[in-house]
Amino acid sequence: MANETARSGYGNIGPVILLGPPGAGKGTQAKQIAARYGIPQISTGDLLRDEVARGTSLGLHAKAIMDRGGLVPDELLYGMVAERLRQADCRRGFILDGFPRTAAQAGWLDAFLEKEFFDKSQMCSPVVIQLVVDYTQLLLRLTGRRSCPTDGRLYNIHFQPPRAAGLCDVDGTPLIIRDDYREEVVTARLAAYEARTKPVVEYYRAQGRLVPMNGDQPAADVTAQIFGVIDSHRSNCKPVAE
Ligand code: ADP
Ligand code: ADP
Repeated sequence: MANETARSGYGNIGPVILLGPPGAGKGTQAKQIAARYGIPQISTGDLLRDEVARGTSLGLHAKAIMDRGGLVPDELLYGMVAERLRQADCRRGFILDGFPRTAAQAGWLDAFLEKEFFDKSQMCSPVVIQLVVDYTQLLLRLTGRRSCPTDGRLYNIHFQPPRAAGLCDVDGTPLIIRDDYREEVVTARLAAYEARTKPVVEYYRAQGRLVPMNGDQPAADVTAQIFGVIDSHRSNCKPVAE
């Protein structure tokens, strides 16, 4: 099985934390890392959207905040994240995409990993990669995004336009803008990043753990550099007891 090969081939990876503003490419890169190393991508945005879809009390709280591009309060997230990280597929490592997003979340995560992972399994210490992309490029990436409501296919009117303006290439359905990609919401999300998530970058920089990377180059080049960072980090890790 492909997954088994990834597991035995790569052993202990540890946590991989992707930092960067909305649109920096965290989701894009997380998928590549997950496929290569056989570890799960954990996106707090996806977990929260799932809570919203299931109509849980967390989902009801989070929805209005997410719709206007704000940050869901820290205390509401910890139980959800802890529950996900305790699942068996996280034992060899996992990729966090969109968490931590505040300095308090970063402190909570360190304490959680220390208590629940490093004591028990000698898991590798986290690799923290910061994807750096300038503001204008982020705006184009985010506000240009369109999706097809029937097949979910994604387009970008600046970088990957559909063949006929505004219509899906496959079935001609009019493309839509997801609510959180409307310009005013994008601006709010970028402002929330500046105010709340920049301190997370400083938190990891102060610990000497931050690996800044230019995210404004072809996605495959970013991926190759990330693999290089993870591979060299991993060579210092002990195996996780099965
Ligand atoms: P994030 O998870 O950080 O918000 P995404 O991975 O969702 O970012 O990427 C946001 C948008 O930018 C997507 O439309 C994606 O296709 C595009 N994108 C991602 N990486 C690159 C890249 N290196 N160059 C150009 N566009 C990119
Ligand atoms: P992005 O495209 O900005 O990476 P996500 O899909 O990660 O968006 O997150 C969508 C929304 O979910 C955010 O705008 C925010 O409201 C909420 N959210 C996700 N992760 C967190 C977090 N770690 N802390 C607070 N709010 C979060």
